Amino acid sequence: MTTSHVVVIGGGIAGLAAARLIARGGARVTVLEGSARIGGKLHVSEVAGLPVDEGAESMLARRPEGLDLVRDLGRAGDLVNPGTTSSAILSHGALRRIPSGQVMGVPSDLRALASSQVLSPAGLARVPLDLVLPETPHGADVSVADFVGARLGREVVDRLVEPLLGGVYAGRAELLSFESTLPAVAAAARTHRSLISAVQGIRAAAPQDPGPVFASFRGGLGVLPGLVAGDVEAAGGTVRTGAMVRELRRTPDGWRLTVGSARDPEAVDADAVVVAVPAAPAARLLDAEAPAAARELARIEYASMAIVTLAYPATAFRRLPRGSGYLVPAVEGRGVKAVTFSSVKWPHLRDRDPGLVAVRCSIGRFGDEQALQRSDDELVAAAMHELALTCGVDELPAETRVSRWGGGLPQYNVGHADRVARIRAAVAAQPGLAVAGAAYEGLGVPACIATARAAAGRVLEHLERVKSRGGTAHGSDGEDGQAEGPRPEPGDPVHDVVGLPREEPR
Ligand SMILES: Cc1cc2nc3c(=O)[nH]c(=O)nc-3n(C[C@H](O)[C@H](O)[C@H](O)COP(=O)(O)OP(=O)(O)OC[C@H]3O[C@@H](n4cnc5c(N)ncnc54)[C@H](O)[C@@H]3O)c2cc1C
Repeated sequence: MTTSHVVVIGGGIAGLAAARLIARGGARVTVLEGSARIGGKLHVSEVAGLPVDEGAESMLARRPEGLDLVRDLGRAGDLVNPGTTSSAILSHGALRRIPSGQVMGVPSDLRALASSQVLSPAGLARVPLDLVLPETPHGADVSVADFVGARLGREVVDRLVEPLLGGVYAGRAELLSFESTLPAVAAAARTHRSLISAVQGIRAAAPQDPGPVFASFRGGLGVLPGLVAGDVEAAGGTVRTGAMVRELRRTPDGWRLTVGSARDPEAVDADAVVVAVPAAPAARLLDAEAPAAARELARIEYASMAIVTLAYPATAFRRLPRGSGYLVPAVEGRGVKAVTFSSVKWPHLRDRDPGLVAVRCSIGRFGDEQALQRSDDELVAAAMHELALTCGVDELPAETRVSRWGGGLPQYNVGHADRVARIRAAVAAQPGLAVAGAAYEGLGVPACIATARAAAGRVLEHLERVKSRGGTAHGSDGEDGQAEGPRPEPGDPVHDVVGLPREEPR
């Protein structure tokens, strides 16, 4: 009896993590990655000799999936944690400490909120109205701005919640789903009339010493895909780059993929397929066989952004930054969305070259593509201008790098959870088909790995069922109807800057 063949489309962290589990489960796996390198949004390269991530730079350590994967790879010893967890918000022209007691910007400690001076006196005076207002109805999903604004006033949305959510989604509070982007807060809000009390409840239930919020690798988080791919190959799998999948079709025995250019197409057959690519290419691939899923996927919007990394001589800073960085609310009207002092956040970078300070500036929000329609030099100039304004930096950086992420971050807009349920139901109707990745139940790295685990489990169960039926792949496959993905991410932390150690729900 021949070993089943599974193709994973997409060599980002979700595709690789799924491939690894499927290979370990005994199937022959081929990962087909369209671009010239694996890793997707995980990629590291050197700036002035320092390994600084171009995309994702840290993963949440309070969800198990990322750390479990690293442990399973035998690389837990290579992990590092941030050296500081203190971060700030630029508000009313000055850097202010993010008030303690908040969860993704939703405050629970009014005294801390007042002393942070993030809000204007009028904005601050509006907040306690939450304690006396009647309950806000919980019906269909609403936007973050609608729910939080109704309870706490617009300034809390603009100056706290949106910048913190912006660190994850680069999105707009008017569009982002309250249920999908603040799931812990939304769940608590169902059982409390006051949003402040709801967040107080979340904080009271949080462990006292939950340990580090984030982890990364000494060589950057971008080393993780290579480690996973190595493990796929060690388990007998194949990882191909430059293998763009253009079409996916069912056959009587399984699936046929068309790979490569239209002029020189290659057919690849598989018993099962995991589609682990962003929503737009997933929609194109599923259009023929799962059109209902394709239609929904095509409606998931993405934000584009750029990361400008600058390596400054340490002398450029009059005083070295002490915090890990700061977030910039859109209402401040600055060109930069967030600043991360990488050499402060990650002590191994500072130890590697104490004479340099590496800084990452994020530029671009959903709906503000214009901000990115500039040359690399202009983006670098915008980042330098920001650092001159807030840190008084008036020297030239030793080296700079611009990393552009067109369509980098899916927007979990109002109705996202229902949309994902419809996608999963349509995919589940197709035997031997699974989806994984950032478009579904959380875009952080551990959440993507969770979708990979679910996809691998689904595919392996399908192969097992086919085997027990005597090898007919496409019999009645109603039993494949496992429409559930992993549970949604419980309040994604802020990827820009540092995340907020004691402000996280978990
Ligand atoms: C700038 C930035 C910073 C971030 N920071 C953090 C962070 O600090 N922490 C965190 O947890 N998360 C962070 N994220 C989010 C996280 O990195 C991503 O959500 C996650 O890595 C996505 O993984 P994925 O495997 O789902 O998709 P991707 O990484 O997008 O991988 C999908 C792969 O599929 C390939 N592909 C597409 N179409 C095809 C096709 N037709 N055929 C073959 N291959 C195809 C692509 O080339 C790509 O390699 C960040 C994201 C960005 C953009």
